[in-house]
Amino acid sequence: MRIFESHCHINDKSFNKDLDKVIERANSSGVSHMMIAGVTLDTCKKALEIAKANKNIFISVGIHPHDASECSEETIDQLKKIAENNEVKAWGETGLDFNRMYSPQKDQEKWLLRQIEEASNLDLPLIFHERDTNKRFLEIIRAENIKSGVVHCFSGDRDELFSYLDMGLYIGITGVLTIQKRGEKLRELLKDIPLDKILVETDSPYLTPAPQKNKTNRNEPSFLPVIVEKIADIKKADINEISETIFQNTCSLFKTGK
Ligand SMILES: [Zn+2]
Ligand SMILES: [Zn+2]
Repeated sequence: MRIFESHCHINDKSFNKDLDKVIERANSSGVSHMMIAGVTLDTCKKALEIAKANKNIFISVGIHPHDASECSEETIDQLKKIAENNEVKAWGETGLDFNRMYSPQKDQEKWLLRQIEEASNLDLPLIFHERDTNKRFLEIIRAENIKSGVVHCFSGDRDELFSYLDMGLYIGITGVLTIQKRGEKLRELLKDIPLDKILVETDSPYLTPAPQKNKTNRNEPSFLPVIVEKIADIKKADINEISETIFQNTCSLFKTGK
């Protein structure tokens, strides 16, 4: 079984001390490929260093909606420079987050649109972050001509799900799926997500799945197999087939070799 981690932040400072061990553990649990999602200019730079030093680690460049108020045209120019590297396979995270509102809505929307434009110029797929936007995110991306992307850590409703699927977007499934109460809605919706549209992600160091969350606060890519197992369980399908299909989906989206 091989698994493609479609979204993690192993460039986070919580991994500073033992990153090599974390990557080793991921590889030995079947997680052979990883995508580090960008959130700020500095973390994108650090992600690039990690990707240059390790095989089958790829990165995206982008400014998270939380950090939108810090974004400028100069930031975008610097991200474009980083994107000249072969390890860069996507643009993101970009999107909207009205749950925390760390940046004002108008800044979030402005830089979402600007980043969609840049992704399109560079022909990169988008990694979208959406939380509690009450359909505003959907309204915006519907009006744009999105060619390819993933809605990572999907937390929307049925209507949003089918709208994303209609646009040809992939759906990122996290360890929330394994959590008893919080994962209820997602487990129900998963039944209606076609297998060829599913990606898996830990979003580590956040969102530690069950049962690991009883033991450790910090999530890491080696915990991905429990998410794939849960998907196989809900879809009543063979875990090896499921993980291989999801692997291929991820390669198709990020245009990495298979
Ligand atoms: Zn996110
Ligand atoms: Zn993330």
